[in-house]
Amino acid sequence: MIVAIDGPSGSGKSTVAKEVSKRLGFSTLDTGAMYRAVTYRGLQQGFDLENISNLEDPECADMKSWLVNVANNEQISFEFDEFGQPAKVFIGGQDVTTQIRTKEVDRTVSVVSACADIRTALVAQQRIMGAKQDTILEGRDIGTVVFPNAEVKVFLTASPEARAHRRVLQNAERGVGDTDEKATLELMKFRDKFDSTRETAPLTAAEDATTIDTTNMTFEEVVAKISKMIEEKR
Ligand code: C5P
Repeated sequence: MIVAIDGPSGSGKSTVAKEVSKRLGFSTLDTGAMYRAVTYRGLQQGFDLENISNLEDPECADMKSWLVNVANNEQISFEFDEFGQPAKVFIGGQDVTTQIRTKEVDRTVSVVSACADIRTALVAQQRIMGAKQDTILEGRDIGTVVFPNAEVKVFLTASPEARAHRRVLQNAERGVGDTDEKATLELMKFRDKFDSTRETAPLTAAEDATTIDTTNMTFEEVVAKISKMIEEKR
């Protein structure tokens, strides 16, 4: 069974997906981590991704082809904890769990994820990983592109302020990423706009998705609501 959870950054997709998966015995796939991993490899290679707004520009051709090659050939894998939930992220055998959560990656991942060829490569990997077992995939285009026939589709959202607040708490807990709420809010708004207006697979709710606004809901309420939706379809 495939469950798609899409939504903007900080809407709680990752934490909710993990908890629901744990309770119902699903695997989780954090597709954002995959775009982050490719972005990190570009930064590691020394590419000045911060000053690029479109990888499709002819002057970015070399950089784009290097990144597309990474997305096609460097395998992204996850190491799981005792609950079957992803605990570590690897690309080409390199552990990048912490590196993919830095401010630099936050600032540049949207440019990389807007590239159609990179998306094609990662979507192919996501379909293979998702089809192996009951999986909750979370991202931006799961219900619209990756698994349009997913049995359950959720679009999670919350006010930008609530999302920024949660992301800062999550960063503090992880010990990596920005912990300045104002800066996080600004970056989040920028990323949401970029992700929503790109040509390929923009962030949008699938027509048949259930939108859940979590601004005034507790974590437990969100988990219970999604778990119920899944149980009803099982
Ligand atoms: O979910 P997370 O914030 O880690 O995602 C990082 C970025 O990866 C997003 O801002 C978006 O640009 C990209 N992304 C995407 N499609 C997905 C998942 C993430 O374009 N399915």
